Amino acid sequence: MWQPIKHLSVLALLCLGLTNPSWATHEYDLVLTGGRVIDPESGLDAVRNVAIRDGKIVAISEQAMHGKRQIDVAGLVVSPGFIDMHAHGQTLLANRVQAFDGVTTALELESGAFPIDEYYRIRAEEGRPINYGASVNWLTARIAALLELEPSSRADWFTEALNRDGWQDTIATPEQLDKIEQLVAEGLDQGGLGVGFLTGYAPGSGHKEYYRINQLAAERGVPSFTHARFLSMAEPQSSFEAIQEIIAVAAGTGVHAHIVHLNSISLKDIELIRPMILRSQQQGVKLSTEAYPYGAGATSIGAAMFRGEGWRERIGGISANNFAVDGKRLSEEEFAQLQAEAPQTDIIIHFLDASKPDEQALIDQAILMPEGVIASDGGDWLLDNKPVAGDTWPLPDKAWSHPRSAGTYARFVSNYVSEREVLSLSEAIAKVSYYPAKILQQAIPQMRHKGRLQVGADADIVVFSLPEFNDAATFAKPAQLSQGLKHSIVNGQFVIEDGKLDTSALPGQAVRN
Ligand SMILES: [Zn+2]
Repeated sequence: MWQPIKHLSVLALLCLGLTNPSWATHEYDLVLTGGRVIDPESGLDAVRNVAIRDGKIVAISEQAMHGKRQIDVAGLVVSPGFIDMHAHGQTLLANRVQAFDGVTTALELESGAFPIDEYYRIRAEEGRPINYGASVNWLTARIAALLELEPSSRADWFTEALNRDGWQDTIATPEQLDKIEQLVAEGLDQGGLGVGFLTGYAPGSGHKEYYRINQLAAERGVPSFTHARFLSMAEPQSSFEAIQEIIAVAAGTGVHAHIVHLNSISLKDIELIRPMILRSQQQGVKLSTEAYPYGAGATSIGAAMFRGEGWRERIGGISANNFAVDGKRLSEEEFAQLQAEAPQTDIIIHFLDASKPDEQALIDQAILMPEGVIASDGGDWLLDNKPVAGDTWPLPDKAWSHPRSAGTYARFVSNYVSEREVLSLSEAIAKVSYYPAKILQQAIPQMRHKGRLQVGADADIVVFSLPEFNDAATFAKPAQLSQGLKHSIVNGQFVIEDGKLDTSALPGQAVRN
């Protein structure tokens, strides 16, 4: 019995300094030393060392710590990884571009996915550099029920549906409503993170239907995420009343209702809509909002909001020139032709001009909502109007998307913190990491470990140079990665190190309900 003990004690003597056995210093996998560490929840904003082991943050200290790897990050910001609640880009390529913008968790919550099992299975099989997850796509369930189709995640399934009538402005029968509810419930059973309502794409769907499916979400204890029913400053059918509907449903069902892209949906009526939301929140209605820092949106030219009598006036008096395809503004003839012959064509719609101070002030009202989060609404990358293959890298020079797909977060931080000094760095980081986690964590316990730079949190960490952190993507040339991001660590593993992407790194994990 005493032989092994004697053996151990020799080892113990060795590690007391007689030799320098390497395992004694391997307490941590990785230590980031000397960075400006920011944790918005606790208010920490100080120079600290951060130690990581087994994918978690295990120590934060002013004292020196030793790990298998030590990275000097002096002079750099060490932040919780950013959480994008509105990421339509869900391919490997889209995720890698997002990683350069600081995103470590990209969630598809506005549209959502269907079937949910398939969404998670594909990503688990292929692997992802950053964390991923999706809500249940109500619109797919509705189209399937009303057109009697098998629900599908195929892009061409939705494109075909866009060309057909019978679901955008049709009230569901009681049987169809049962079917929609059953399909959405299935998605929640499979781990969907809530229910995504693209109500604006089926503006004539029933108010009772919207209420009933939100009631289901409330019963299941998950949030709903809504693209409001109308996009218009003119009544009736205004953005204002569409937001009123979301507030009423949150108050009337108890669901946590998240209002997506408040900046674009409000148009210039943000001045009316913002105080209405704030007062509702003060009354205890569970509402949250998101916005992106651009004066232009993106969608397809065939969308319902660009049809019907008086639609131009309704969107604040716009013309074909407010629309661009592949970076080129449209003439009236081009607009009419594309809408008739190719309604799925992706377009940019310039609804506010950020170069005009009064219009920038309107964008600010949406961006600066108290605890309002920044979410990109970014999408996949296209080349000659066809999707770029997911495993493509680097991002092709001529690839096209709204620049928000690449630059939302760097643009937000550089513009609101560095250039205009509207927000402190800590408050800006809260809006891209801690607040999104806080919105989701009641329904999704995994989120309690994200959006924080604290002991016990997931090691989703981004390290960037504040003066260099800038978006490069523009409307004319969107395929440009954000600059200034030095390291991206996801679940304790480097995805980007010293500004270089490791294409073999796929540490992203599923976020599931
Ligand atoms: Zn939307």
